[in-house]
Amino acid sequence: MRIANLNGRAVILRGDRAVDVERASEGRFNADPQSLFADWAAFETWARTTDATGEPFDEAQLGAPVPAPRQVFAIGINYTAHAEEAGYPPESVPVTFTKFPSSIVGPNHVVELPEGNVDWEVELVVAIGAEAHRVSRDDAWNHIAGVTIGQDLSERLVQMQGTSPQFSLGKSFPGFGPTGPWLVTSDDLADRDDLAIGCALSGQQMQGSRTSLMIYDVPELIARLSAVCPLLPGDLIFTGTPGGVGNRMSPQRFIRADDVLVSEIEGIGTLTTQFTSR
Ligand code: ZN
Repeated sequence: MRIANLNGRAVILRGDRAVDVERASEGRFNADPQSLFADWAAFETWARTTDATGEPFDEAQLGAPVPAPRQVFAIGINYTAHAEEAGYPPESVPVTFTKFPSSIVGPNHVVELPEGNVDWEVELVVAIGAEAHRVSRDDAWNHIAGVTIGQDLSERLVQMQGTSPQFSLGKSFPGFGPTGPWLVTSDDLADRDDLAIGCALSGQQMQGSRTSLMIYDVPELIARLSAVCPLLPGDLIFTGTPGGVGNRMSPQRFIRADDVLVSEIEGIGTLTTQFTSR
């Protein structure tokens, strides 16, 4: 099942049609896409049984599928190839930081480039559907509403400024958290723990890997994060990026104002992000 944000309203996508959640449920569920997570289990049960067929829709009208998460976790150094290119030893634990929620945007967003070196990082993004506190690996997927594609856009100068890196700031400029184009429930995926993932910048393939190559897989991340913080319904987790970021290329390559970034994950689709100068 695919769930999306169409012009600010929650919809279920069926083929090329969109079912408006509030209207089809006769007001039982609110139009606000973020409100669905308050009782995701009830929403999902209803959504799977409604026979509404919906209407054709314009993909250009899609917004962030999870537009206002209370918490956004992000994981660094979670693929061996990226750990190697970034110079981290293999025994490092995953680096945890936040992308402040004001950075979250949807598909087809035009990101205004700040000064500095803006880099791409395609990532599988997980949305929490049921509060998770001290959850085991085996129970982890039961707390996940679905997955989407994300870009952990990163301005490398701010990120690496000072003696202690400023990951959370350097990755939270406006528009630095593109997500979408929709949320996909894990039963729609051939193998939720092994999905092809990659991105291309202005037609050139930059990253290509599989999510099965994560050092700490999705259940392990849920177990480790929820051992400390309760993960709340509607929270997002950016699960780390494979190798192939511009900061580690020789010569380095950063995003320019005329670039188009297309991110792809098997079974979800593609997320397109454009850029403009300030
Ligand atoms: Zn990242």
